[in-house]
Amino acid sequence: MKTVSLEQELNPWEAQAARFDFAAQKLNLDEGLWKILRYPQREIIVHIPVAMDNGTLEVFTGFRVQHSIARGPAKGGVRYSPDVTLDEVRALASWMTWKCAVVNIPFGGAKGGIIVDPKKLSLSELEKMTRRYTAELIEFLGPEKDVPAPDMNTNEQTMAWMMDTYSMHMRQTVTSVVTGKPLTIGGSRGRLEATGRGVLVVCDEALRKFEMSRESTRLIVQGFGNVGSNAAKLMSDAGYKVIGIAEYDGGLFNRNGINIDKLLEYRDRNKTVVGFPGAEASDPKQLLLEDCEILIPAATENVITSQNAAGIKARIICEGANGPTTAAADEILADKKVFVIPDILANAGGVTASYFEWVQDRQGYFWKESAVNEQLEFILREAFEDVVHFSETHHVNNRIAAYMLAISRVAHTIKLRGIYA
Ligand code: NAD
Repeated sequence: MKTVSLEQELNPWEAQAARFDFAAQKLNLDEGLWKILRYPQREIIVHIPVAMDNGTLEVFTGFRVQHSIARGPAKGGVRYSPDVTLDEVRALASWMTWKCAVVNIPFGGAKGGIIVDPKKLSLSELEKMTRRYTAELIEFLGPEKDVPAPDMNTNEQTMAWMMDTYSMHMRQTVTSVVTGKPLTIGGSRGRLEATGRGVLVVCDEALRKFEMSRESTRLIVQGFGNVGSNAAKLMSDAGYKVIGIAEYDGGLFNRNGINIDKLLEYRDRNKTVVGFPGAEASDPKQLLLEDCEILIPAATENVITSQNAAGIKARIICEGANGPTTAAADEILADKKVFVIPDILANAGGVTASYFEWVQDRQGYFWKESAVNEQLEFILREAFEDVVHFSETHHVNNRIAAYMLAISRVAHTIKLRGIYA
């Protein structure tokens, strides 16, 4: 891959495009298909006026990018953050296309975001902003068009407001327009823990490949939010030893293992993991470099870069977050023979359970939690096997293998459908 500046290295769109180009070249992808798949199909920018509680008017900027609808409705989360950029949303939308194709579910890829610090808004301002954003996008959303879900700083409540706004415009209740809803209005059992469960399943598969046991596997998890805390809980219950947790405001380390049930209670009571008495305080950035078998970045993008990749001691990296490793860091990790389970496979449990939620809403029949978990495990095991098989037959790392698998599936669909003109 070509040499890039640090700024380019940290741009998620550049990161996505670098992997896409490399995988497409390895596949000998037809030039026309390469042009279609390299860029999103549709990018929408909306300006959202909100009457604030203090009587002033504020205008927020929001995005929805639909990368591909070749394999089915566009699918992907909506994030609220002051740092959201169009390039980031573009990258995340493309990753959703590849992720849905890796696990072979009938969705394309999309992502949305609003430039906002949600902590500075009241609940009523958040609701108004969410509803107006949904209304601005109304003709582009729908169970057969584009199905949003929660992402960073959005949750079940956000999805309930989006579902209600869409339903009001349609003059009927349409639960399947979003996923990640509360259970009582068409949500799925198992959805909340699904991304963490997927991380457990793919780590189990990696252990099987390397003939390692759960009990002798030490984990360090970055991010103790939805993905990180659920992965830590499920994996510690399954016998793995969680020795480190790195959060935004501090880190925890205990070589004998951290009691995750107690940490969850502590976090819920104190709204932070800092100060937890069952572990030593530790520098969260240094924790990524501690000795362990599996490192799980489950917080945000660009945390493993050309600046720190050489210091990583983990044998396996399982990417709970989207885009935690830059393309330059990938090359360093490959030289060190680190087994990376890439984001578009490792965190696909979330969208897989979202697919089950969409199916249940459309069926009007809701599954037992055990059925959701069983189907999820089956799909992720198969995807893991497919990726490793691609990696071994094409002599590429797991990330490029996952991209190649995904690109070939999407390209095949486009070829069959043909180009409408
Ligand atoms: P979240 O907001 O629930 O949790 C993120 C956690 O990471 C927070 O506790 C935050 O304080 C922490 N954090 C943020 N930046 C950090 C940093 N630099 N260092 C240490 N900790 C930091 O979000 P989430 O839903 O768990 O999502 C996390 C990542 O996983 C994102 O990249 C998201 O796109 C991805 N993801 C989420 C899902 C899902 O189902 N929630 C599915 C697939 C991928």
